Amino acid sequence: MRAILDHVGIAVDNLDQALAFYRDVLGLEIEPAEEVPSQRVRAHPIDVGDASLELLQATDATSPIARFVARRGPGLHHITLRVDDIRAALDHLRSRGIRLVDEEPRPGAEGSLVAFIHPSAAHGVLVELKQARPPRSALTPARLPWGQLTLVTLHDGLFRLDGGAMFGVVPRTLWAAESPPDDRNRIPLAMRPLVVEGGWGRLMIDCGAGDKMPAKRREIYALDRTRHLGHALADAQLSADAIDIVLATHLHFDHFGGATRRVDDGRLAPRFAHARYRIRRAEWHDATHPHERNRASYLPEDFVPLQDAGVVDFYEEDGAIVPGVRVVRTGGHTGQHQIVFIESDGRTAVFTADLIPTTAHVRDAWIMGYDLFPMETLAFKKQFIREAIEREYLIFFEHDPLVAAGYIRERNGRRLVEQVL
Ligand SMILES: [Zn+2]
Ligand SMILES: [Zn+2]
Repeated sequence: MRAILDHVGIAVDNLDQALAFYRDVLGLEIEPAEEVPSQRVRAHPIDVGDASLELLQATDATSPIARFVARRGPGLHHITLRVDDIRAALDHLRSRGIRLVDEEPRPGAEGSLVAFIHPSAAHGVLVELKQARPPRSALTPARLPWGQLTLVTLHDGLFRLDGGAMFGVVPRTLWAAESPPDDRNRIPLAMRPLVVEGGWGRLMIDCGAGDKMPAKRREIYALDRTRHLGHALADAQLSADAIDIVLATHLHFDHFGGATRRVDDGRLAPRFAHARYRIRRAEWHDATHPHERNRASYLPEDFVPLQDAGVVDFYEEDGAIVPGVRVVRTGGHTGQHQIVFIESDGRTAVFTADLIPTTAHVRDAWIMGYDLFPMETLAFKKQFIREAIEREYLIFFEHDPLVAAGYIRERNGRRLVEQVL
């Protein structure tokens, strides 16, 4: 059983007095309060690093916090340990004869599940177990109006890559806390193509890995397409035939493998029968002239058949692909890697592809070991994230397993992502 300190609960009777100390004297930031109706409590979280403090204020006299304060005065009330699977944790504790307050988990704040262990079993400490809300819609397609456009976030399933390679020079102790690796040191990742709908039609940015990958590679990458792009399109009331343009951020297999598929006679054909494929010419050149360092990522079968089918439109420079959708070269990850700005009615969303593949990568120096030109990534990213924070760009994280899109915020010098989708 693996448990991580989530927060320490402190029962207060006079919130203003408590704030006078925690906020005004210690200088800590108090986050907006959350109601926990099942406990008749209002919780005021305080950010103190990876875990938090929670000031607990009873909302009526029958609240357990009110009873605690009446009996013992304000003070430390409980500690909360986060577990992956709360039911499994309770079974484990029961099998060891541990006395529980809650035999079954019940709803906690923010959609979590919680259960208390009896203090007599925990040497006088009330211990709460918590299972965080299962990531809402981790892979559920969602539709978001964006000015005159509509954004539809899709997915092509999950895969895994080596955690060290995903975080470059960042020590494992740091990244493993953000993204716990499996027993082969791999971390979970998603593939999230994005569809932009406008008066001009439907454009899909990247298209996942597709289904051509041989079993051995599928196993290496733990490719899990039990739910894949076909399902996601159907869930969003779309189909492959409804896509007019497919835009590549770059031609790596986890971004553009889905561009082609094997048809009945074994031939490779465009996956989107009615689409034109927009590819930056210099990226095409690099992908068709791979070297030892990038050969494993560029698979000719993903893109060469498109040219054979005559469905590729090359472009040379940064600029608009269709009104409201424009590409900007970042370099760094590959020489021609680009991100996509989606702008309408003064709102800006950015599909950041492998520049900021997951929410953990919002820190400037958290740069993938895969990047061919990491200093180029750093220079672009520093300037871009500053701009994204200041101008409130909605960022799409193509590889994040839990968060499809969110705003990058900065609090007390720490970056975090406010999830939107
Ligand atoms: Zn890539
Ligand atoms: Zn990638």
